Amino acid sequence: MIEICTVGGYSEVGKNMTAIKYQDEVVLLDMGLQVDKYISAKDENDDDIIDAKELARQGALPDETLIKDWKKKVLAIIPTHAHLDHLGAIPFMASKYDAEILCTQFSANVLKRLISEKANKFSNKITTLAVNSVYQLSENIRIEFINSTHSTPQTVMVLVQTPEGSVLYCNDFKLDNNPVIGDKPNYRRLNELGAKKEVKLLIMDALYSNLERKTPSESIAREMLREVMLGVSSKDKAVIVTTFSSHIARLKSIVDFGKKMKRKIVFLGRSLAKYTEAAEECGIVNFSDDVEICGWSSKVRKKLKEIEKQGNREKYLIVATGHQGEPNAVLSKIVKGKLRFRLFSEDHVIFSCGVIPNPVNIAQRQILEDEFKKHKVRIFKDIHQSGHASREDHRDLINMVRPEHIIPSHGDFSKTSHLMSLAQELGYQPGKTVHLMQDGQRLSI
Ligand SMILES: [Zn+2]
Repeated sequence: MIEICTVGGYSEVGKNMTAIKYQDEVVLLDMGLQVDKYISAKDENDDDIIDAKELARQGALPDETLIKDWKKKVLAIIPTHAHLDHLGAIPFMASKYDAEILCTQFSANVLKRLISEKANKFSNKITTLAVNSVYQLSENIRIEFINSTHSTPQTVMVLVQTPEGSVLYCNDFKLDNNPVIGDKPNYRRLNELGAKKEVKLLIMDALYSNLERKTPSESIAREMLREVMLGVSSKDKAVIVTTFSSHIARLKSIVDFGKKMKRKIVFLGRSLAKYTEAAEECGIVNFSDDVEICGWSSKVRKKLKEIEKQGNREKYLIVATGHQGEPNAVLSKIVKGKLRFRLFSEDHVIFSCGVIPNPVNIAQRQILEDEFKKHKVRIFKDIHQSGHASREDHRDLINMVRPEHIIPSHGDFSKTSHLMSLAQELGYQPGKTVHLMQDGQRLSI
């Protein structure tokens, strides 16, 4: 018998964490933050270092009391990728467990930076595992990382193999056949799992299971960027682009086209510097050859002042943090005149992202766009494709893997019920072979 506790990310979008127990051993898949609550807790405390108790009180961390009885049995904490809603709680929570962290090299590089910023003491061992390789965690549990695609490098599907069958955890994935960085998903292995009927349970990111489509490839987002960066004249104009700092493939496209525009490329903002360093450290990209990276705000300020002084803003491509309108990010500071960089009529700002649909983000982004409009800046928005699968990808993955049971993840019923209806269409039975879970519920199979 395998027991599952859906700890976090099943009653909300965020703070992902799932516990898998076999006999006396437990692995934790993901340990993520509820990012909006984390940011508001941080702002309230006006401090970069806030303690875990305060974050837990504000609901920014997965509720580990739900698995109190399993605490001593945890062998490993396994984040699937480097997004904060999957590994951001590790610096605050992991040290309470006598468990190693098992992740890919890029995730480890990001994690180390988060730990040095946020954790006071941290003693868990971090073991890195390459994509498409296996790790014998104990006599009974073997972990396999299957290459997947998403919106940050080295995202994996995690296969937890036990003597009584396997759990396949695909929490954040898309099926991208033309990724800009890395390989397409390991379909060979997924088909093999299906052919052998090896997967007892598939836990699957259901976020966009209501969208009747296949999520377009990252290479489509690259073409959208090509159109606005190379196909629209920006002669004599400032050009500013913003995107997710963890989206290294998107940044690569931006850098590639920036070079074709024959502009000097500058990255402005701490998170851009942090994720770029993490990616360069494991050889995914080498932006530093072509890009001047200014992380700390003093450097950002100095660089923009220098451009103003030289009077050659049309020779630069500025890549800035703050695509969701975050008040403390570079983009908001530029538009509010806090960095003394002037904006003129028909300068370009390119949003290579969507708006994350929560009330705070929607409001902040609107404020940002209104400010740009005051300066009569040209706005190019939604130059973007999602990193999350849609309904027809879900169908393909289910048909490939042919699991015995399915648990939809990455949201409350408003998200997961759509995947349940698809599973029903494919012959699964609600409550018997497809299970809608909430935070804190348990299932034995
Ligand atoms: Zn993600």
